[in-house]
Amino acid sequence: MRHLLSTEDLSLANAVGILDTAEEMSAVGEREVKKLPALRGRTVVNLFFEDSTRTRISFEAAAKRLSADVINFAAKGSSVSKGESLKDTAQTLSAMGADAVVIRHWASGAPHRLAATDWIDAAVINAGDGTHEHPTQALLDAFTMRRHWARLSGTASEGADLKGMRVVIAGDVLHSRVARSNVWLLRTLGADVTLVAPPTLLPIGVEKWPCRVSYNLDDTLAQGADAVMMLRVQGERMNASFFPTTREYSRRWGFGDTRLQALDNLGMKDTIIMHPGPMNRGLEICAAAADSPRSTVLAQVRNGVSVRMAALYLLLSGDTRTQAAPALAYAGTHSPKENN
Ligand code: ASP
Repeated sequence: MRHLLSTEDLSLANAVGILDTAEEMSAVGEREVKKLPALRGRTVVNLFFEDSTRTRISFEAAAKRLSADVINFAAKGSSVSKGESLKDTAQTLSAMGADAVVIRHWASGAPHRLAATDWIDAAVINAGDGTHEHPTQALLDAFTMRRHWARLSGTASEGADLKGMRVVIAGDVLHSRVARSNVWLLRTLGADVTLVAPPTLLPIGVEKWPCRVSYNLDDTLAQGADAVMMLRVQGERMNASFFPTTREYSRRWGFGDTRLQALDNLGMKDTIIMHPGPMNRGLEICAAAADSPRSTVLAQVRNGVSVRMAALYLLLSGDTRTQAAPALAYAGTHSPKENN
């Protein structure tokens, strides 16, 4: 694997390999000294053309825990706002010796463009492109589900897929790169996915996606779910009105107090509630659900660092194996370029 651009083209072996490596990385996060020498001397550039809090900080923490040097490049306040093209920006970063570029861009396909050209000879990681994909978010979600699944079944996470797990993804699917990346990855991992949204917030062609589609959240929940992922209503990407009122939206498609209670009434005591953040509390998710013991919101943030460490490590260290542990001991001294 040279780049991480999407989950649609991620094989089962690569997906499980990243998740297993992330398990090992999470052990590092629990140590007092949360650092490995694995990427010493390597430079990771965070190239963000769109606002982000958790993804950028998460990549920064991940790179630093692996001892890489990190350069944060935000489009606002840079020459990009003077009209510098993606090509010129990439070539500048290349001249500065970037080994990996973590790119978030408002245009779907920008990371693929970067990876397909010879503008820059670095590993490219897609940190969210337009409404297309956000692969590390889907991987951290899968990591969170896999741990939950393993805990319930009393088995180990390592090597496991998500076969038989029922996942409901609800909300603004139309604008959500998180939903797209999750649908592809969950299909690869064998989970059973249902999307729930108002018809206006479903993309054209959704019937060809490898999942079920419903307009009714209550009916879908009544059929059982191991994980319910609520999506953010992406007001900033909406140029029309997609639902009558926010009250109507939260009543029909939000996860409110009544639905939280319904999970208990339905005997679904192990169902987790997920959200990629940032949350619109009171719109797609109520405070009681976001803060309940079922909520994995903070675990997702924590797991995000481990998954991004795994992605950076596997791309930059040249380790193609799924078991990273033995490699971590000497990864700081071997030359990744020769292995890539
Ligand atoms: N943080 C995620 C993203 O960048 C989800 C969201 O913003 O709704 O796509």
